[in-house]
Amino acid sequence: MWTEKAQAKINLTLDVLHKRSDGYHEVEMVMQTVDLSDHLTFYPLAEDEIQLSCTVPYIPLDSRNLVYQAAKLVKETFGIASGIRIHIDKRIPVAAGLAGGSSDAAATLRGLNRVFQLGQSLDQLAELGAKIGSDVPFCIYGGTALARGRGELIEHLPKVAPTWVVLVKPPIAVSTADVYGRLKVAEIERHPSAMAMVEALATGEVRLIADHLGNVLESVTFSMYPEVERLKGQLLKFGAVGALMSGSGPTVFALVDREHKANRIYNALRGFSREVYLCRFY
Ligand code: ATP
Repeated sequence: MWTEKAQAKINLTLDVLHKRSDGYHEVEMVMQTVDLSDHLTFYPLAEDEIQLSCTVPYIPLDSRNLVYQAAKLVKETFGIASGIRIHIDKRIPVAAGLAGGSSDAAATLRGLNRVFQLGQSLDQLAELGAKIGSDVPFCIYGGTALARGRGELIEHLPKVAPTWVVLVKPPIAVSTADVYGRLKVAEIERHPSAMAMVEALATGEVRLIADHLGNVLESVTFSMYPEVERLKGQLLKFGAVGALMSGSGPTVFALVDREHKANRIYNALRGFSREVYLCRFY
């Protein structure tokens, strides 16, 4: 038996540069993991099977699950004839813009590397992970990174002070494909600067980091779900230093400079929303 944590990520910046001829969008994003994680437990099986179980009943447990896809990829790539049972203790909200599925897939690659003693480096696992999804390579490493290409080209950034974060997920499911489909790249009014964010992160000053938050998908998701924009306004009103939608949403996060303020915002938001989380950069 072996256990791995799968951390949630937030986007401190998310920029779309252009649409590529292969259909993907060329992105530039500053990504950050937070200490909100799913826990995956791996039990080796003698028989050639992949069995999944999950604490959330509506998550598919077959080949639609990214954990299943990661386990199958490992078995095929390394010619492993025995099987694995994987239990997912889900704590990251689903379809939230927090890369829960991608992070589970990354944790599966790390976990099976250990269980089957494959001796792969994190870089090799990240390369494998890119076959499953664009966010998987970042989730292999976690921490703070600049992601380019379709999100799979990772440049590590220095560790940032453990800033307080309040995450709120409104009760809406947002399809990432739908949001990207509606985005008109030529009409983007303001592109965030990943470089300015990298410089702000190096200072560790929450106020400077907050000044450079930006996500070009916000306006698309806000136009479909105005309540997401209202939620961002509420976080700022309650004292967040900065607030932003993560990924394609609908989760909105607040950056806060002091623990007592983070607690105050967390408690205030719990009156409005069932899914509120208090965490830190990790
Ligand atoms: P991203 O930020 O990468 O867009 P997300 O946080 O918005 O991801 P996920 O939580 O990864 O979204 O889930 C998106 C969909 O993927 C869900 O509808 C779910 O059915 C499916 N899915 C497949 N595998 C998993 C998994 N291990 N955990 C959660 N969802 C999964």
